[in-house]
Amino acid sequence: MKILVINTGSSSIKYQLFDMDQKKAVVAGLAEKIGEETSILTHELLDSNGEEKEKVEKERINDHEQGMERIVNLLIDPEWGVIRDKSEIDAVGHRVVHGGEAFKSSTVITSEVISAIEENIPLAPLHNPPNLTGINVARSLFPDAPQVAVFDTAFHQSIPKRAYLYAVPYELYEKHRVRRYGFHGTSHEYVAQEGAAYLNRPLQDLNLITVHLGNGASMSAIKKGKCVDTTMGLTPLEGLVMGTRSGDIDPALPFFLSKNLGLSIDEIDDLLNKKSGLKGLCGINDMRGIEKRAAAGDQRAAVALDVYTLRIKKYIGAYYAELGNLDAVIFTAGIGENSPKIRRMSCENLEDLGLKLEPEKNKVKSSRTREISSEDSRVKILVVPTNEEKKIALETENVIKS
Ligand code: AMP
Repeated sequence: MKILVINTGSSSIKYQLFDMDQKKAVVAGLAEKIGEETSILTHELLDSNGEEKEKVEKERINDHEQGMERIVNLLIDPEWGVIRDKSEIDAVGHRVVHGGEAFKSSTVITSEVISAIEENIPLAPLHNPPNLTGINVARSLFPDAPQVAVFDTAFHQSIPKRAYLYAVPYELYEKHRVRRYGFHGTSHEYVAQEGAAYLNRPLQDLNLITVHLGNGASMSAIKKGKCVDTTMGLTPLEGLVMGTRSGDIDPALPFFLSKNLGLSIDEIDDLLNKKSGLKGLCGINDMRGIEKRAAAGDQRAAVALDVYTLRIKKYIGAYYAELGNLDAVIFTAGIGENSPKIRRMSCENLEDLGLKLEPEKNKVKSSRTREISSEDSRVKILVVPTNEEKKIALETENVIKS
């Protein structure tokens, strides 16, 4: 079975074609700057050893429809493709950012599902519209292949009311659906499943804290396999310190910025989402660069690392209290998988809570799931590489098989 996974942004289409017999991506690519003067289409052919052969096309792509057509042409190209005809694609899996309260799991896309995703546009005005464009284009290009929506929010739909309600007037929830939704759900669920497989225990027996540290960052508390809390909220701005997002702040900060600095709502939005986080604290948002600067004595970079890891540590404590007992903490995504320093600082002084990092294991570089806690650590600490596209392909396969 061949499944095409698509993640459509406002000016981009990210894609991977999976061979489900091998459960592996055979092609991966990105069309970006769609609608701009020069668009870029990067296409990688992955051989069975995971080695890549890359082709880059720089030619204007007018819109998503033309972008998808160009991608299909590459997929069927004798040199760069892996199929002879687009009818060989058995299903298309779409990443959809916001499923609101309507979707607790992945689903086959029908007209009703499209309407429900449209209804969630006010909750994700930047993400759901391009996701819908991707769905519409794929439906017309692959009319015979079932299309499946996999939602970033679905895994968090098991969060109980006491954790998803904000203490604001209740009508805001009832009339405007203001509540915590959480994001990165596909990644949290995937690493929880992979972590359970590594520990050789059923996920439904485990209490876990998953720590997704990429450019966006979030944590989840998972009780007996079900998500019971997560750090991102109504939007992805809440929670951890991120590359350019502030994460948790005093909710009165926007009033202060408006009253004293005269900033407009849009300017505050931009400040908190694009100019804050690590970038706001030390000028750059790339963790590798920040670690280098801190090692060279840059105080602002050092303080950015302190603020970043203290927030993670606070949530480990909070989620431990919420879960009652804890089997494992799982680090994932670009920083979580690759930065021993951030993992060490996040777990420092948590021995009394049962988390004991083994420094040598923590330093090992690997692209595999691994344990980095010491033998006598009551709580296991794992690093699990995330793979959201693979999870979308697996979900798509499950949905169409059932
Ligand atoms: P992601 O959004 O998951 O691709 O993660 C991007 C973040 O991972 C960026 O801040 C990168 O600097 C960071 N990252 C990638 N590799 C490393 C590394 N070896 N050490 C520290 N941070 C890294």
